[in-house]
Amino acid sequence: MTDTKQSTAPMDGELEQKKKKKSEPDDKAQCRHGFHDYVEKEGEHTDEQGKPVKLFKCSSCGKEKTQAD
Ligand SMILES: [Zn+2]
Repeated sequence: MTDTKQSTAPMDGELEQKKKKKSEPDDKAQCRHGFHDYVEKEGEHTDEQGKPVKLFKCSSCGKEKTQAD
């Protein structure tokens, strides 16, 4: 098992990304388990068939889902 992360010198941008991943808030951890904090979005939304649906967006990760009205 080789650890390539040790041998490469990360650039500043990569360091920033690693920091963000480590300090990920717990609510996003819930998202990974499928427990999204959905908030209903205002306005009229339609699905691919043009039927009216409710649109929900997760306030934590931004994942969207629709639900038939
Ligand atoms: Zn989520």
